[in-house]
Amino acid sequence: MTGDFGRALPRLDVPPPGPASRAFAERLAAVESRNVTFLAEDWPIFWSEAEGSNVRDVDGNVYIDVTSAFGVAFLGHRPHALVSALEHEALIHGMGDIHPPARKLELLERLASIAPFAGAKTVLANTGSEAVETALKTASVATGRPGLLAFEGGYHGLTMGSLSVTERAHFRAPFSPQSYEGVHFLPFPAFGREPSAAEVLHLAERAFETGGPNGDPIGALIIEPVQARGGARLAEPGFMAALSELAHRNGVLVIADEIFSGLGRCGAWFASERVGLVPDVVCVGKTLGAGLPISACIARPEVMDAWPASTGEAIHTSTFLGHPLACGAGLRALGAIDEDRLDERAETAGHHLMTALGEALGTHPFVREIRGLGLLLGIELRGGADGAGAGMGVAVARRLLQRGIIAQPAGDRGEVLELTPPVVITTEQCAYTVDAIREVLGELV
Ligand code: PMP
Repeated sequence: MTGDFGRALPRLDVPPPGPASRAFAERLAAVESRNVTFLAEDWPIFWSEAEGSNVRDVDGNVYIDVTSAFGVAFLGHRPHALVSALEHEALIHGMGDIHPPARKLELLERLASIAPFAGAKTVLANTGSEAVETALKTASVATGRPGLLAFEGGYHGLTMGSLSVTERAHFRAPFSPQSYEGVHFLPFPAFGREPSAAEVLHLAERAFETGGPNGDPIGALIIEPVQARGGARLAEPGFMAALSELAHRNGVLVIADEIFSGLGRCGAWFASERVGLVPDVVCVGKTLGAGLPISACIARPEVMDAWPASTGEAIHTSTFLGHPLACGAGLRALGAIDEDRLDERAETAGHHLMTALGEALGTHPFVREIRGLGLLLGIELRGGADGAGAGMGVAVARRLLQRGIIAQPAGDRGEVLELTPPVVITTEQCAYTVDAIREVLGELV
């Protein structure tokens, strides 16, 4: 690694993907399920190293990563505090639910200290989907009512249980015969769009009375305080508080899926605080391990204590639960967010980026809306296959790669360009990104 790698502007030695990435893609096609990695003439690049906001590929090209690699690298890639600490970790693997690593306890105590309710109790897991599954099981155990309420455009994961509350047909259709059928989906009342928050609240009230589509009574709802993969969508102000109040009046638990939005990215420990959502259960992941896989389902003590005490064979656990390296990473990440006030920095950086985007693109004919909270931003586009933006986020992301920017589309129809950079992104990197988006949109006119 040289010089300013981490804070650098893009430097492309060869047009991406270069010859090394292309050769890797060919080999990959022979050994990986073809459903996993999208392969095309102009996609993907293979990564070799990453630091701060920069990624280097196997051809030596340097990029700015405005995705934080699925929102994970909020602290930046390969954060120094984490790397130096991991070198000194003496325990690589333990027995999470039998003879726990000491680090597990430390992380659980730390999570309890930041949770949005007193006395929080937690189940650790490895991925976001697993944290969501744990939350769904917890709610079912606590309420005895398996039915669920979830929202269109929400993304909660793709494992069987989490898929049951992820609404997008693309993911669900092939597996619908195996999927739980007690989930009632409601439209997400996106700010400034139809239906209104009042209409959705009315629908929620009716659903609480009638139950899920299979007649199961509803015990919990799951919602992202800010829809992330749904396209950085915020609900109409007041909706989240009213929904929480309505749920609690009906004895329905509120599960906040903060896997993307939580732990600083939206300008607070939890985006729920910012939008008025009052959760009983909170799921976090992504940022938590600063690059190592770890997630958590955190609940109010009276909710979590609905689980029976383990008699030696826990009814919900997993091999890597409380993994000491991942717990160590979690402690470092939470420590850095706290000490360096990364939530406040995300808010300031997000505000600057949003302002710069507004100035450069606000009146562009292809730009429908620029929105988000903290460093979870999205640009909703017009035009495209259906004239209403379909595929435009995809087209822009592909062209941005040619300019040295790693970006991802979002939204049900790929109509949004998502911007969720690391909090360490520099002003120059932001300015470069905004210029590149403007140029790419110009090419598409
Ligand atoms: N919930 C949200 C809000 C997410 O953004 C994601 C991942 N994008 C998940 C759950 C699933 O997490 P994972 O991919 O780690 O299973």
